[in-house]
Amino acid sequence: MPAHEFDLLVVGSANADLVVGVQRRPAAGETVLGSDLATHPGGRGANQAVAAARLGARTALLARVGDDAHGRLLLDTQRSSGVDASGVLIGGAPTGVALITVDPAGDNGIVVSPGANALLSPQDVRASGKLFDAARVVSLQLEIPLDTVAEAVGTAVRAGTRVVLNPSPPAALPAQVLAVCDPLVLNEHEARLLLRDDPAAAQDTPEAWAEALIRLGPRSVVVTLGASGALATRSGGAAVRIPAPHVHAIDTTGAGDAFTGALAWRLTRGAELEEAVDYAVRVGAAAVIRAGAQEAFPTEREIARD
Ligand code: ADP
Repeated sequence: MPAHEFDLLVVGSANADLVVGVQRRPAAGETVLGSDLATHPGGRGANQAVAAARLGARTALLARVGDDAHGRLLLDTQRSSGVDASGVLIGGAPTGVALITVDPAGDNGIVVSPGANALLSPQDVRASGKLFDAARVVSLQLEIPLDTVAEAVGTAVRAGTRVVLNPSPPAALPAQVLAVCDPLVLNEHEARLLLRDDPAAAQDTPEAWAEALIRLGPRSVVVTLGASGALATRSGGAAVRIPAPHVHAIDTTGAGDAFTGALAWRLTRGAELEEAVDYAVRVGAAAVIRAGAQEAFPTEREIARD
């Protein structure tokens, strides 16, 4: 087996999350006053990279940020979490931002400006081929252009690197991308959207969704079920439910990203799928007992103590 410099390469988005608390979200034409602005590093790619690195994975991130203060915030938090950020490209557009309002019930409204994420190109992937050769597993999401995802998946396959993909936000995926996902990782909402007209989408059992998703072509599927944990299934195998530890959830922001980063990290260590999911549900549960996303992700030591 070749020596790998990285366990995990994450290819995806990096955003600044700009959060304001409001009594209620404004109607059309209305202005409301909110709390002080809080700025947090976010974006699914950046979140997953931080989650894995905090757990001890040697992690690299391929992403694009703007040449601005938000981009510097993202680079700083990646580096201080131990992520190799030499693959983070800079410039071309402002750093992506998510404008988030949160009401007292905890419900939020979000506008995303993709900014530099939309400029991460297939050419950027081709120029970063060395990162793919250097990693055991590559983890992707869909907050960057789909043709960039397809190029990254093809590059990973040629490098013999395992592909983990979280189809978020949900979009129709080319068959050759779906066919190499091992696993496709998604929550209930994403599962239903990906299945669209499939009669399984109308059923209430995640087992039915997982079976239908496997028929779309991936090698394995993991459906996350919030407080209920997750469900794992492999092509040709039966679905296995893995419960999450019972915790008092404070803030579920980023739980799915912590889960996927942790899952990908365990897979780089040669864990079986169910074993990796068992680890990931513990990490997901640990991420919801503190406020925030990246700042709430647990360290290796915290998970080992459970
Ligand atoms: P997403 O954040 O993408 O919507 P989920 O809500 O399914 O995804 O959460 C992902 C994972 O985070 C779950 O599989 C579980 O491990 C953990 N998790 C989320 N919410 C809770 C909760 N209330 N209690 C325990 N674990 C949770």
